[in-house]
Amino acid sequence: MIHESSMYSYPELKLYIDGRWRSTENSAPVINPATGEVLGALPHARERDLDDALEAAERGFKVWRKTPPAERARIIYRASALMRERQAEIAHAITAEHGKPLPQAMLEVIRGCEFFEWDAGEAVRTYGRVIPSAPGIRYLVHHQPVGTVAAFSPWNFPMSQPSRKVAGALASGCSIILKAAEETPAGALHIARAFHDAGLPPGVLNLVFGTPADISTYLIRQDSVRLVAFTGSTAVGRHLTSLASQSMTPVLMELGGHAPVIVCEDTDVQAAAISGAERKMRNAGQVCTSPTRFFIHESIFDEYCAAFVARAAATRVGNGFEEGVEMGPLANERRPIALAELVEDAVAKGAELCTGGSRVGDKGYFFAPTVLCNVPDTARVMQEEPFGPLAILNSVSSIEDGIARANGVPYGLAAYGFTNRADYADLLAEELEAGNVSINTLEASLPETPFGGVKASGYGREGGSEGLHNYMIVKNVSHSMEIV
Ligand code: NAD
Repeated sequence: MIHESSMYSYPELKLYIDGRWRSTENSAPVINPATGEVLGALPHARERDLDDALEAAERGFKVWRKTPPAERARIIYRASALMRERQAEIAHAITAEHGKPLPQAMLEVIRGCEFFEWDAGEAVRTYGRVIPSAPGIRYLVHHQPVGTVAAFSPWNFPMSQPSRKVAGALASGCSIILKAAEETPAGALHIARAFHDAGLPPGVLNLVFGTPADISTYLIRQDSVRLVAFTGSTAVGRHLTSLASQSMTPVLMELGGHAPVIVCEDTDVQAAAISGAERKMRNAGQVCTSPTRFFIHESIFDEYCAAFVARAAATRVGNGFEEGVEMGPLANERRPIALAELVEDAVAKGAELCTGGSRVGDKGYFFAPTVLCNVPDTARVMQEEPFGPLAILNSVSSIEDGIARANGVPYGLAAYGFTNRADYADLLAEELEAGNVSINTLEASLPETPFGGVKASGYGREGGSEGLHNYMIVKNVSHSMEIV
């Protein structure tokens, strides 16, 4: 049965600049990845639209940085409340443009709201410091908003990804120009709509779309842009960081991952295997923290693999609007091609294909839940992030062996372990090279916990009490009561 979607139409796509909605003559189609149907026409920003957004953001910043933090928080809470009221409408747009099952899209909207609500709470707690000093002089540390942020959000979570960037910027007192993903613009559009309705002053939030490289190249070189915030692949992050370095503009980079999972011999094998297979297929594996490289103790390897493969193969794949569907299509035409190449390479080098490995159906971008066992280190997929529904199951002789293999990639975003032993848990927490380590859970990121990577997975943190730091500068003020 198809969920009732006729009461929600896909929104008309527009740019949002200086508090007004705007169309342009250039546009590109937005495609439903489950059906290939055209959902709408995405307006592409021209240089004059970007210039207008830059000027508006400068004006917006002047107003917003002087707006008391409690008032900023009130506007963010109001916008979030509107998005909660519009949850079903936003979720339908997300499922249409991204393909994920509707219940997952419903949860994503709430997660996006939670990011806003957490950062709104933090907005009133950006405390400074008084440094102990000699009589007659004061040293004060202030935290001030950095200025206009140029932000780039990806397509895997159309609502919660842009939420993180917009929440961080607005809660800190910054203005923002957001270039949301061209494949999935509706989540960001709904965010702009909610802030417009909540009374955000014009220019504080601006939303543009277009060819990513053209927009990022244009915006990043502008003097008024004081922070570049990006979520996406390491290759693009590296490129944007190098553009920003020309003007010494700081960056917040949340990049790729290739998360390891170390499964120790003392764990509940069945429960760990089922949890792993279900989490792997969430969002069709298109998650930067998706568990991918499973290192399983050799004594439980066969039992773990059997349970994992059975659960993965049973995943119900289909149109996200259909009741009971667990996994939708991949986001765009590039993804099934990339996955098929990685599978072919691994099998050619000796890996065992236990299930999946190819496209499903002849419509849309569906790819079967895929499990590869005993994958040699020479296979490309051992180093390259598949960013899809593909799991690698390999055996290890000890936890130390597992940790060494887990750390043997350039990435360091999320890492996981399954064990009931305190000494093992401590070793994993201590030794895994990752910004986020989770034991006995495959959840890596919540609004209240700091999230970000090490190594090629980027730098800076979103969420937690650390999340606003990237959006603020530290200013030390020395104040002598007499001229000295
Ligand atoms: P891609 O590298 O072409 O694009 C990834 C994202 O970066 C897209 O949203 C795109 O709009 C943006 N982008 C690309 N070039 C840009 C530029 N020059 N300036 C600004 N933005 C730019 O890859 P893809 O095929 O769309 O996605 C696959 C890869 O992207 C994956 O391997 C994964 O590493 C990465 N990705 C990561 C996340 C994440 O949450 N970290 C999300 C989506 C994609």
